[in-house]
Amino acid sequence: QPSGSTKPSKPAFGKKDLQHYEESDFSWSKEVEQELVNVFKLPKFRPLQRAAINLSMSGRDLFLVMPTGRGKSLCYQLPAVCSKGFTLVIAPLVSLMEDQLMYLKSINVPAVTLNASSSKEDSKYVMAGMIDKNSPFKLLYVTPEKIAKSKLLMSKLEKAYNMGLLERIAVDEVHCCSQWGHDFRPDYKLLGILKRQFPKVPLIGLTATATSSVLKDCQKILCVQDPVTLTAPFNRPNLYYEVRFKDSEGSTKEIAALIKGRYKNQSGIVYVFSQKDAEMVSTDLQQGGILAQPYHANMEPSHKTLVHHQWSSKKIQQLSRGDEAFHLISSISVQLNSILYGTSLALTQEVVVVATVAFGMGIDKADVRFVIHHTISKSMENYYQESGRAGRDDGPADCVVFYGFADIFRISTMVVMENTGQQKLQNMVAYCQNVDRCRRAVMAVHFDEVWDDEECKQTCDVCRHGNDYITMDITKHAREVVDIVELAASLDEKMTPLKVCDTWMGKGSAKIRKMAKVTTLSRLEVESIIVHLLLHGYFSEDFSFTPYTTYFYLKAGRKAGLLKSESHTVTMKMRRKVSTSSSSVVKIENQFAPDIWTCSGVDFIKPERRKKRRIRRRWRNL
Ligand code: ADP
Ligand code: MG
Ligand code: ZN
Repeated sequence: QPSGSTKPSKPAFGKKDLQHYEESDFSWSKEVEQELVNVFKLPKFRPLQRAAINLSMSGRDLFLVMPTGRGKSLCYQLPAVCSKGFTLVIAPLVSLMEDQLMYLKSINVPAVTLNASSSKEDSKYVMAGMIDKNSPFKLLYVTPEKIAKSKLLMSKLEKAYNMGLLERIAVDEVHCCSQWGHDFRPDYKLLGILKRQFPKVPLIGLTATATSSVLKDCQKILCVQDPVTLTAPFNRPNLYYEVRFKDSEGSTKEIAALIKGRYKNQSGIVYVFSQKDAEMVSTDLQQGGILAQPYHANMEPSHKTLVHHQWSSKKIQQLSRGDEAFHLISSISVQLNSILYGTSLALTQEVVVVATVAFGMGIDKADVRFVIHHTISKSMENYYQESGRAGRDDGPADCVVFYGFADIFRISTMVVMENTGQQKLQNMVAYCQNVDRCRRAVMAVHFDEVWDDEECKQTCDVCRHGNDYITMDITKHAREVVDIVELAASLDEKMTPLKVCDTWMGKGSAKIRKMAKVTTLSRLEVESIIVHLLLHGYFSEDFSFTPYTTYFYLKAGRKAGLLKSESHTVTMKMRRKVSTSSSSVVKIENQFAPDIWTCSGVDFIKPERRKKRRIRRRWRNL
């Protein structure tokens, strides 16, 4: 035994302990399982949710780290529903609280909020409710400012605590406590008062993004003695990430070929931008012999259920073809299809939902083998969540994005009213533009995770293709294209990105074209450079609103002026590709035109690269 005053520390929370809390034989288990279905209308728990709930119900303090969209809120909302008193929830944003309140209202869970904009009557009702033995609400949402500033609130909480009505404290986005987190909020620093005043109330801190040092800091700030930390791993090792360029035809042919080839007899999801796209792409895929069906918010609920059901019940690829059940399910699926479309389609085995983001809630089909994005997502959070529907059975699955120039601006105008909409979209675009870093590394940085590229094990296109890129000086091109936009501005003309492309390539209206330098770059290069310049501040967005639509124009960005200086350079990393020519010499071609590919040809390639390339070519030919 060590001498001195240090308390022997408890053994760390291990695998065995976790197993214990994953069980469902606690005194509250029955009620918890029932309310999950009855109140929250969810069929079953996701990983770690049950353990988190059991830990919290057992009175343990807990930090729960789970990627966005995995369902952290349930881990305090369900215990709240199953408890007598109320749960105090601290959340950083009023808009976040309002979303939650709306959701809770829709499932008939009484919840209230106290924030700077609460009316006098509302506050009165809430304050009285807190010390009402019949607890008229199950959850009370407050901002951290309220805790820091309202003495009245603290005294009511004190009273509620003494009456045993303050059941639990949830601190959402708990990383905001720490200065080292990416989203520090000074008022979170004062939340230590909660554990000091109400030591017996279990606290649960929730976050999607916290490193262990940030969590340690949060623990100290919140005065939590001995918390359990549950971390849902952010990396999905069984998913393969890939980005492809979307061609002007929208790539449905390529998607159909992928599904018919790489994903033969599998099922999956194709995410599209709009309802119209859902109808269009699914028709195209059907013509390719794929059992595809659209799914979007504007469909009859019964129709939606049918599509979802048909898609989910496709367990047939696990059965052998001779299996009776296989024929039975197959024929049911064909019948359903004829009901839907009035025709009897030939039997195909690839079952695909072509869906807008409306397809998501309540999906827990385990054997989704591919999630293809016909259009990029509006944020990395969305992309992570949507692509994450692949491979829930831990079997290998693919997440492929088709990255198209015009889509960027379609989405940009769609999210124009969202607070951080443009920034989030830019992160998604940067993920697609990226050619030199492991896709997982890009995600990890985004979600503030620690990541070692080795761990990817070539399960993303960048790692698999061996960092196949080159850094290029695009200063001259940047000057040309920024000039076009500035020239247009001087003539009082607004330029859409499409128009900028056309003008730079020598097409479109003569007025500006006459004065502009025409480039010899290919369309793809032109688009890539424009996006690069937008992401790096040489261009910026210039929205124009009419009552019916929002238009996206390009204007010179904050860094455009730098191009006037002789010494300023702009570089960009670009992907190279191997020509498929059958010549015995390994011919290397950039996918970009020779004039920026100034060192085009074999000479430029370092010897070890050439070797790698040959190996890959051989591998490809297999
Ligand atoms: P987070 O706070 O972790 O970002 P939320 O709590 O907002 O995530 O939940 C995201 C979505 O996941 C919600 O639509 C929620 O209804 C859904 N969800 C939560 N738990 C489950 C579950 N066990 N099964 C299916 N969907 C769930
Ligand atoms: Mg949340
Ligand atoms: Zn990788």
